[in-house]
Amino acid sequence: MPLQNSTESIFSQLEALGHKKIVFCSDPDTGLRAIIAIHDTTLGPALGGTRMWAYKSEAEALSDVLRLSKAMTYKASINGLNLGGGKAIIIGDSHRDKNEALLRKFGRFIKNQNGEFITAEDVGTNPRDMEYIRMETQYVTGMPESIGGSGDPAPVAALGVFMGMKAAVKELYGNDSLAGKTVIVQGIGHVGENLVKILRDEKAKVYISDINEDLLRQVAKKYGAEAIAHNNIFDIDADIYSPCAMGATVNTQTINKLNCAIIAGSANNQLEDEQVHGQMLREKGILFAPDYVINAGGLINCYSELMGFTKKRTMQLTENIYEATRNVLKLSKAENISSIEAANKIAEKRIADIKKVKSSY
Ligand code: NAD
Repeated sequence: MPLQNSTESIFSQLEALGHKKIVFCSDPDTGLRAIIAIHDTTLGPALGGTRMWAYKSEAEALSDVLRLSKAMTYKASINGLNLGGGKAIIIGDSHRDKNEALLRKFGRFIKNQNGEFITAEDVGTNPRDMEYIRMETQYVTGMPESIGGSGDPAPVAALGVFMGMKAAVKELYGNDSLAGKTVIVQGIGHVGENLVKILRDEKAKVYISDINEDLLRQVAKKYGAEAIAHNNIFDIDADIYSPCAMGATVNTQTINKLNCAIIAGSANNQLEDEQVHGQMLREKGILFAPDYVINAGGLINCYSELMGFTKKRTMQLTENIYEATRNVLKLSKAENISSIEAANKIAEKRIADIKKVKSSY
């Protein structure tokens, strides 16, 4: 296997990130090349989406699935869910290479994990694809509401981000009202648009940016938000910067430019480097509501589906993100550490504690 030229390097990557198991799925008949990464199952079955992407190399695909699956462990743990962390990737172009046979074959590989891994949609996959996987295995969630599933996770994800934002506002300003606060939402796709709606309902002043200019105009008009060019967002003074597009937008260059008090958004892996940029934000006095704590609404939606979906219970679990974020920010202050370090500590402690429970009988 030509991944980084040696099999040792695969095992050393697994050891470095603490993974339990990696499954390489190959089926020449359908052209399937996929990797299922199971990071940790202490708290429950590993749940994570299946991403389909035209990776430039197998090494890049492996590195992505390892990083994403570990983040799922932390996201579930800190939000009190009984789930482990996992993720899957299918190598290929989702527009060109995806078809029923390939997805059903992938479903067979998931079936063979006997419930240790449960999947859902992600970048490059959609609810219809999950239906194909469901034809081969029950271990799939995020099904359409029309067939008894939990449906679109984006409104729930947006509510979770809003709860995390409120917790950060409370920490900084003493009350958690967003009324009159200025928020820049970067990326007004599925989650971003839902967040803009909530923020406008709460009487916040909202700036929005997106590379899709038609969408930008439409959303600005619909909610009374102010559209700004996507390359100008760091020139605006705001209380809150909410990254809802892609990862790594918080880096040395942008931190130097940022004129905000709080960062709270839905994008995964917002800090280009957790340690370096977590610390830089602290030094600059910018409060960071850690991404994986506050963007767990989508995961909570899937979790609810597994437990017997009700809207009410899903909303309650999502509202708990407020307390989870408060706890992280309190620990960060008490121990003089960055908020991402504080979040990691809480997530790791819950797993360590439950490991002891499970080993005691
Ligand atoms: P989406 O694809 O619907 O929306 C992303 C938007 O960002 C698009 O409108 C796109 O045009 C825009 N965009 C891309 N690059 C940009 C740039 N440089 N500047 C401004 N805008 C840009 O995705 P989504 O489902 O809304 O998810 C947004 C983020 O939140 C992603 O990082 C995703 O991983 C994360 N997330 C999503 C969910 C969910 O339930 N959808 C849950 C948790 C986390």
